[in-house]
Amino acid sequence: MVVELIYVTPDPEGLIARCARVSHRSEAMSSPEGDRELVRKLISRGHESVLEFASATFLVEGMSRAAANQLTRHRLASFVQESQRFVDVRDRGLVRPPSFTDAQWEETAALHRRAVELYEKLIAEGVPKEDARYVLPIGTETGLVVSATLREWRHITRLRGSRAAQWEIRLFAKKVLVILKEHAPTVFGDLEVAG
Ligand SMILES: Cc1cc2nc3c(=O)[nH]c(=O)nc-3n(C[C@H](O)[C@H](O)[C@H](O)COP(=O)(O)OP(=O)(O)OC[C@H]3O[C@@H](n4cnc5c(N)ncnc54)[C@H](O)[C@@H]3O)c2cc1C
Repeated sequence: MVVELIYVTPDPEGLIARCARVSHRSEAMSSPEGDRELVRKLISRGHESVLEFASATFLVEGMSRAAANQLTRHRLASFVQESQRFVDVRDRGLVRPPSFTDAQWEETAALHRRAVELYEKLIAEGVPKEDARYVLPIGTETGLVVSATLREWRHITRLRGSRAAQWEIRLFAKKVLVILKEHAPTVFGDLEVAG
């Protein structure tokens, strides 16, 4: 799975602090360390609404439909996903779960090849892509764009990065968190993805 940052609010923590300071009219006290301290304090006190002033957008390739179904449940994020109604997806790969042995994976890959052959045959026989796709497994790779505020990214990475989450969505959460920690270390510094 490839997770690429395609947009993040410039200087997100500076913007969050600047906006937050309006409430106490403390703009004159702004400094890089003071702003970071303020952001830390706001998060620790649960005043997370100010994190909504900044956002980040990711392009995701090679995520399974199984994981994408979980990600798109997050209602406060915005999505565009590759459409199996309109895009011919015969060349899309299948995501390999780490629990599969080589023998199990070979058997699964053979089943996938058979499904793709049937998909191609159905299309050749005039079945629309939106119906031919029904033969494809849920492990088929997809591509999508997901955008959310930093408040929602904290929520998603915390929930989907926990031990209770499924491995592929946890891998996604980990990749997102690594990137967001670079751009907003104070906002995401207290979060880790479970190993
Ligand atoms: C480990 C795990 C297992 C799961 N298993 C299942 C399962 O078996 N079956 C299943 O169907 N789903 C399952 N889910 C998905 C889960 O039920 C949610 O659909 C998913 O987490 C997204 O919803 P959310 O509330 O977390 O947050 P988001 O939709 O990302 O929203 C963020 C926050 O905004 C607020 N919010 C959003 N919308 C509203 C609203 N309408 N009203 C009030 N507040 C709102 C809430 O505070 C919410 O937490 C699972 C999730 C996890 C992490």
